[in-house]
Amino acid sequence: MRAVGRYRAAAVPPPAAIDFSSNDYLGLRRHPALAAALAECAARDGVGAGAAHLVSGHHSQHAALEAELAAFTGRERALLFGSGYLANLGVLSALVGRGDLILQDRLNHASLLDGALLARARLRRYAHADATAAATLLADWRARVGAQPAAAIATDGVFSMDGDLAPLPALAVAARAHRAWLIVDDAHALGVLGATGRGSCEHYGLDSGAVPLVIGTLGKAFGTYGAFVAGERDVIEWIVQRARTYIYTTALPPPVAAATRAALRIAQEESWRRARLNALVQRFRARCASAGLPLPPSPTPIQPLLVGSATRALQASDALLARGFVVKAIRAPTVPAGTERLRISLSAAHDEAQVDRLCDALVECIAGGPA
Ligand SMILES: *Cc1c(COP(=O)(O)O)cnc(C)c1O
Repeated sequence: MRAVGRYRAAAVPPPAAIDFSSNDYLGLRRHPALAAALAECAARDGVGAGAAHLVSGHHSQHAALEAELAAFTGRERALLFGSGYLANLGVLSALVGRGDLILQDRLNHASLLDGALLARARLRRYAHADATAAATLLADWRARVGAQPAAAIATDGVFSMDGDLAPLPALAVAARAHRAWLIVDDAHALGVLGATGRGSCEHYGLDSGAVPLVIGTLGKAFGTYGAFVAGERDVIEWIVQRARTYIYTTALPPPVAAATRAALRIAQEESWRRARLNALVQRFRARCASAGLPLPPSPTPIQPLLVGSATRALQASDALLARGFVVKAIRAPTVPAGTERLRISLSAAHDEAQVDRLCDALVECIAGGPA
């Protein structure tokens, strides 16, 4: 078979390189408290869960983590999934089906799109961050089909390749006006956005009435692995009964749940991590601005630098690696053709000098400006 060359095989970054590509926003991935919680739990309870949640794989660490995630997100109940990908497939296919409608932002994560396909619902995508377009599609559809069929709007809270925020207040109004679920995939906002890191809803001051379902991943700011959905008790119970990616898969290893509990505690207690992260984001943006590097207006640790073509993105990424920085080229089809970019992500584990050196290297590696 001929390789089509869309993706490059993953390479192990040299140990000395500084990673500006990970989603380890709070710098918890290597925190000793997480490693200790993981090791302790593994020694006590074993490594694997041994079975699916509904069989015998639901352990005390899972139950405790679910309760803590529900409290953290201010919702009645949280349910763990093996990964964000599985959570999105499971939640969407549990809530909508044939004859129902699901609206999605054009730049949503691939797993939300795949969830809509698995659900066999009618999928309509609206222009990026265009809540008016979403409201119009929803109103027209309701006028045609009546009040019965289910509808949902699903959106990333923070867009994974752009770092900008979904217009959640307006989407919440539209969803409520037309009897639709609003499902927010807050993978890149939990731990990061809001005064206490509770994500997009906290950032906008939206309660669980406005945003009934939040999906979060544990492999990003919390530095571990897995995912969850949080919402009203009855809705979560419905998802338990209907989500095949919850029912027919082995539960997360209990030590991963134990490590995530430690991460969740640290993410809340050590607010300096968010303050430091935000300061680094401001510093990076200011330096890029004075160096003439054009950054779209992202207020989050995800900072995309559009370079004009896939070739330029790959060349810049290679040149940065040679200078000791891991910065990945993101190309079509992950992002629309013509918007190829370097996706730079900042972390509380970085320091000011590293950010400054990255900015200098970016100037050298993107000499000539966008093609
Ligand atoms: C990373 C990500 C996912 C997938 O989560 P995994 O736990 O890595 O499978 C889903 N949605 C968004 C927005 C993401 O960024």
